[in-house]
Amino acid sequence: MKRKWRLLTAVTALAVLTSPALPAAADSPPGRPADPRPDTEKLTRHLKAIEVKSRGRVDVETVGTSNEGRPIFGASVGRGPLRLMYVTQQHGNEPLGTPAALKLLEELGTERTPQNRAILRAVTIDIVVRANPDGHERDWRYNYDPDADPEYGEPGKGYDPNRYHDPEVAPEDNPVPESAAIRRLYDRTAPDLVVDYHMQGRYVDDEGKEITASVLWPTHPDVGDGALELSRQAVVASAEAIEDSYGDANVSLYPGGDYQGISRNAYGLKGSGSVLVELSATGPDREQDQIASAYDSMYATAAAAADGSLFEIDPGLADELPERGDPLPSDDARPFRSDGDDLD
Ligand SMILES: [Zn+2]
Repeated sequence: MKRKWRLLTAVTALAVLTSPALPAAADSPPGRPADPRPDTEKLTRHLKAIEVKSRGRVDVETVGTSNEGRPIFGASVGRGPLRLMYVTQQHGNEPLGTPAALKLLEELGTERTPQNRAILRAVTIDIVVRANPDGHERDWRYNYDPDADPEYGEPGKGYDPNRYHDPEVAPEDNPVPESAAIRRLYDRTAPDLVVDYHMQGRYVDDEGKEITASVLWPTHPDVGDGALELSRQAVVASAEAIEDSYGDANVSLYPGGDYQGISRNAYGLKGSGSVLVELSATGPDREQDQIASAYDSMYATAAAAADGSLFEIDPGLADELPERGDPLPSDDARPFRSDGDDLD
């Protein structure tokens, strides 16, 4: 399906003659292989080290605190008027966006290439690096709140942070500190675009080829036209970056729902472009590739925002992405849930 989608991309682009070439992502993420699952202490050290090495270009702060007292980090890089917000690991057992964010901060904060300089001049990127540290430490989806009886979540464990972004709920009334921290940063920075990085189980396309990532825009019916258009342009930018990231990369649409508490919908309803990226849990042998593909999505989005090509993408190209197909017929197809579909 990859070839078919990309052929359609090319044909559509030629037909309308309005989609300029997107800027290429940096060839590969910098540095050594990433630790896919650094613990909180290691993550803290790594962020501080990047901050120091960047000589002020990366600013790391604590934007919230989990119920067990762990810091929720916000890292900012760039000084441009366009504001991007990336979020990783709202679900604790969906880790790979976090090492990708570290690599992005290191690249943009410490590598003084002409393209990086241009990005930092045009764009400010605020990243919630591992929104759910308690869930990470337990390797589960939820935050940690064992006394809660959540509408979305699991009694005895905690809340599902990605169901508590309802635009009509103020942060101080939000029972989920992780979601409130994201919302406070959103309110403070007023991002033009939010990209939220998750992980899904394992699926194939209709030709039997494994899907390595799925993407989606806000699907709530009340999202405004401008926010929806930018969301769909950014979906195309991420899908192309991920497909170009490595040989077997293969992107589909994500079959997500319309609930307004999902960040993808909530921040679209608030008026921002909003994108969900779900990396597939393709197994330990391909985690570095998957981290690199998330990094490429992050970098390409920033580069395309910076040079303006993001806003020239035909949003209709998003409709050419194939649907996600069947789960892989194996026990590891659904590492995140044992029942029903896994969710945003
Ligand atoms: Zn998730």
